[in-house]
Amino acid sequence: MTELVLRGRVVTPSGIIDNGWIAVAGGTISAVGNGNSPSAAETQDFGPAWLLPGAVDGQTHAGSQIGFPGMAPTTKAAVIGGVTTIVDMPYDHPIPVTTAPVLREKVSAIHQYAVCDVALYGTVPPKPDPADIRALIDLGVCAFKISSFEAHPDRFPRIDNAATLTLLQALEGTGLPLGLHNEDQEIVAHATKLLKEAGKSGAEFHSQSRPPVAELAATSTFLQLAASTEAHAHIVHISIPEGFEMVKAYRAHGRQATAEMCVHYLLFDAGADMPRLKGLLKVNPPIRPGQREALWQVLEDGLCSFVSSDHSAWPLERKTSASIFDAAAGMPGLETMLPAFFTAAAKRKGDADAALMTADYLSDRPARFFGLSGKGRIAPAFDADIAVLAPDPYVYDAGANPDGPGWSAYDGMAFSVRPSATFVRGRMVFDGMAVTGTPGYGCYVPRHG
Ligand SMILES: [Zn+2]
Repeated sequence: MTELVLRGRVVTPSGIIDNGWIAVAGGTISAVGNGNSPSAAETQDFGPAWLLPGAVDGQTHAGSQIGFPGMAPTTKAAVIGGVTTIVDMPYDHPIPVTTAPVLREKVSAIHQYAVCDVALYGTVPPKPDPADIRALIDLGVCAFKISSFEAHPDRFPRIDNAATLTLLQALEGTGLPLGLHNEDQEIVAHATKLLKEAGKSGAEFHSQSRPPVAELAATSTFLQLAASTEAHAHIVHISIPEGFEMVKAYRAHGRQATAEMCVHYLLFDAGADMPRLKGLLKVNPPIRPGQREALWQVLEDGLCSFVSSDHSAWPLERKTSASIFDAAAGMPGLETMLPAFFTAAAKRKGDADAALMTADYLSDRPARFFGLSGKGRIAPAFDADIAVLAPDPYVYDAGANPDGPGWSAYDGMAFSVRPSATFVRGRMVFDGMAVTGTPGYGCYVPRHG
């Protein structure tokens, strides 16, 4: 029994179906076609709008500030932006996800707070216990993440090379990627100290305080550690093309090495945008001056696995300190990732190619990367997770979401498409104006195969 039919321009892995339809039964896509659609309890016709697979955000930080309840505002921001699954990072306040009991608590929090579906990363403490690693894998974490840089002593600690090797060895044969936050501690500390001593604390010095060599040194060490094992090494963000080239070289030598692109590296240029946005644009590794075009080339050359948001919705007061070194790193990106990426891609390649590229890099690729079966495609037997993008140009207003932090580096940016409805497993959770999904509707999505 078809409960719902959605009509519009349907974006499938094999192409775009104009005047298309998606039939939904039991929260799953039962059929996809064009022209006359099957009769259903409910039909929603979105006319010229794009029906894309809901975005799967491969890098979200829901719990950095207020812990697990952060899942509520984060998943609301997700569905406002057409994101139907978030892959949440393990660096929650006050403790990260390093053991089975913490993971179980986080899964309960999903069923209490989340409006969309959620997959989970796990991590390790500075002295990893292989039994804890195995327990997290058994509970379905889709990847592990560590950092070569201490962002916080408990929540986001530095994992040294020996501990990294222990973890890599524990992940051999599991298929799970190990993601790295790739910055060298001492290089960053030294560069920052010199700038502080010289009184250079403005936003324009952020990139210099964490120079490209800090990123490349950490990346190459990690790749080399992983190359001594059979594990899959993944760099969660790279700000310069050289990093992607390095990963490609390891892959060419038969290693499992991949790298991810965060959407803000494709949308902003530190030269033009840092003086205007200051701490609001502070992310680590930094957005660099003059790299944006080359990073689009990286994407078009197929050197990155997928595109993610690295969403982290710090309160405004944490982003507006006098010294750039005191501002928190990270920015909200879930509401804007899909329309911003589509808009920028459409300027380069036209709407149809942008739609296909968006579905590929924001949905299909991350779903496959993290082993999230049923996610990422508009095709029979996949979950009916749909993002509706209307061809209505609009100007993004970060203040419009009452549950958001009220600021965004994207505030005032013009997008050529507007998220106008979002469906998770066949249920409308955003109607184009407000979040209509209820907290706790979201499900935990464990990794498969
Ligand atoms: Zn991140």
